[in-house]
Amino acid sequence: MMYILECWIEHPVRSLDRTFTYLSETEVKRGCRVQVVFGVKTLIGFVDSCTQTDETPAEIETRLGMKLRFIESAVDEEPLITDELYEMALAMKEATLSTSISCFSAMLPAKIKPATSKHKIVQETWVKLSDREVTLTPRQLQAWTYVKDHAPLRYSDLRKEFPNQARALVTNGAIELFDCEKKGSVHIERGTAEKPVLSELQEKVLKEINESNDTVYLIHGVTGSGKTEIYLRLAEKALDEGKQVLILVPEIALTPQMIERVSARFKDQLAIYHSGLNAQEKYEQYRMVMNNEAQVVVGTRSAVFLPFADLGVIVMDEEHDPSYKQDSQPSYHCRDAALYRAGYHHCKLILASATPTLESYARGLKNVYHLITMSERINKTMPEVHVVPMKDSIRKGESYMISDLLKDRIKDRLEKKEQVILLLNRRGYHARIKCRSCQEVIRCPHCDLAMSWHRDTGLLKCHTCNHEMKVMKVCPYCGSTAGFATYGFGTEKLEHELLKMFPEARLLRMDADTTVRKNSHEKILKAFAEHKADILLGTQMIAKGLDFADVTLVGIINGDDGLARTDFRSCETTFDLLMQACGRSGRGDKEGEVIFQVYDPDHYAVTSALRQDYESFFANEMRFRHAGQYPPYTYMISLTFCSLKEDESKRTAEQFMSGLSGDFKIIGVITLLKIHDQYRSRIILKGKNLDLMRQTLREYMESSKISLKGLRIDVNPMYLD
Ligand code: ADP
Ligand code: ZN
Ligand code: ZN
Repeated sequence: MMYILECWIEHPVRSLDRTFTYLSETEVKRGCRVQVVFGVKTLIGFVDSCTQTDETPAEIETRLGMKLRFIESAVDEEPLITDELYEMALAMKEATLSTSISCFSAMLPAKIKPATSKHKIVQETWVKLSDREVTLTPRQLQAWTYVKDHAPLRYSDLRKEFPNQARALVTNGAIELFDCEKKGSVHIERGTAEKPVLSELQEKVLKEINESNDTVYLIHGVTGSGKTEIYLRLAEKALDEGKQVLILVPEIALTPQMIERVSARFKDQLAIYHSGLNAQEKYEQYRMVMNNEAQVVVGTRSAVFLPFADLGVIVMDEEHDPSYKQDSQPSYHCRDAALYRAGYHHCKLILASATPTLESYARGLKNVYHLITMSERINKTMPEVHVVPMKDSIRKGESYMISDLLKDRIKDRLEKKEQVILLLNRRGYHARIKCRSCQEVIRCPHCDLAMSWHRDTGLLKCHTCNHEMKVMKVCPYCGSTAGFATYGFGTEKLEHELLKMFPEARLLRMDADTTVRKNSHEKILKAFAEHKADILLGTQMIAKGLDFADVTLVGIINGDDGLARTDFRSCETTFDLLMQACGRSGRGDKEGEVIFQVYDPDHYAVTSALRQDYESFFANEMRFRHAGQYPPYTYMISLTFCSLKEDESKRTAEQFMSGLSGDFKIIGVITLLKIHDQYRSRIILKGKNLDLMRQTLREYMESSKISLKGLRIDVNPMYLD
């Protein structure tokens, strides 16, 4: 008997994005990996189909008109991904205009990616009782009883308990060793399991969701309105029905409180999945879901691909967060993947945010999503917000980092032993340095971007590619030795300034520089929660999902910095940041206060955030999007051509553009800043019919002779700058 296999081959080239035929003497199921020779290389293939045949290899070759090879070996016995995920990968490939193999790769944890460089799955030695009768010493009998009571257990654990008996029991055959995939290395911090009585509004919202037949819900709820409790109740209901639950969050390290709350309620049914786990840990969590050992998952973007068999509800918290979109290929959005899965499992998808994306809110208003509004906090108080126009306060001679108002309020909180959060969305000490002679800004040699000076290392650092270098003695542009002037400030300098102003204050700083090590986020947040510091200072990573009852003041420094960006979403991200900052103050019983330090106090992103008024922001921003014909009024596809050679990226983009036409606008070629040594040129397609745009583009690429090697496609890009 013979089998004909159609396999996807691990190969990034677009033109090879099809299946190849191999022969096998044994059956291999769809979704299993096989080792095959492709050209002169041995590669991993992913089985798409397996057909049994009575023909001989020679007959098959004659029928198909080509020479065929046998596979070298089958890698997996059972498929790694379910039929649902298999179909989803193929749908994702169409939606994101990427290759099939890249979609399979994005879905699977590193250990089982269809890649040649395979990570080894770590095995552990476990013990169990054998069925042999053996005479034992009294101490050996104790050890044997221990195994009987605890089996199966790790051999290493037995040796810890009975260092002198473990070996003997193996030798005399009383117990047996066996290999098992390592697991249980992910530690989950447990919270307390109090279940509050629902507020009237929470009751109403739950009832509305439970009694409706709609699939997708958008909860527009201010921070502190009790959304999380609603997720937990929906999860409970799904579990009662014997189904699984997926709760998606933007970044686990930044939302430890969410994990604590979920784990407190669901104890040992929980798996967590995020980028902070190593390959082995991810693999373990993947297996736990596959074997239905975990029914509730809290995870970031890629958790949407876990092999659930029967989902009861999917929650996507902070649905506006940009981390839900993958930067690299395939650049999918987690929301789209969640929509697909909700459709497949016939379960509800709950999108939630205090500041939904304009796209989602517009869908809510049009009843594409079932819109639910929660406009009141559980504790019924909203923080009082003040705006400090920095131009005025600097003119009056106040500090350009901390205005007198903010200084006064910090002092007040320190006296009252309440806590303060300060947010500055830039790390490092100086934002940039400039030659005193030629005025050139020192830029990264790999990127066209200014380098920041860091005090802790004494080095210049590029925040895009992480390149570091010493401050030069001679200006690289003009050769002058006049030295450099410094501009702007980041969290390091703010910390310095605060310690000068408040020498007695206890400070914690949280930014990409202080959180390099594993679990450092959690450590900093835990220390702050335990009141080991008065002030937590950091970049936007401290603006997310945190709930500290004693924080009564939040200051946001250079709060409208983001408006300087040239991106179509820059007002939206600025508004989100200001609103999130407000969400961190006054979450407990004490009243909260928020201070925005800004340079453009009249901008609608600032004035709407000041009034905590999403609707007015939405109305203003929609006008701007309409005028520029940006989403949600249109769909966009961004095509970025990258190359190490400056003229090549531009030339390819121009060539590509010259032959492309369809029922959409083509904008370009736009030259972008160089990053990571890559020169980049971009074309943007804008139109009302996304499917048509995709189809035109796909057909054009298939027929085009232009090399698409450095092409990165982003359908519905989050950002364009
Ligand atoms: P959100 O997720 O909307 O930001 P949370 O669910 O975190 O809001 O709720 C805000 C605060 O109110 C939390 O400290 C939470 O423990 C508390 N809380 C939520 N629901 C209730 C309730 N029904 N009764 C008492 N406290 C509640
Ligand atoms: Zn110079
Ligand atoms: Zn760089």
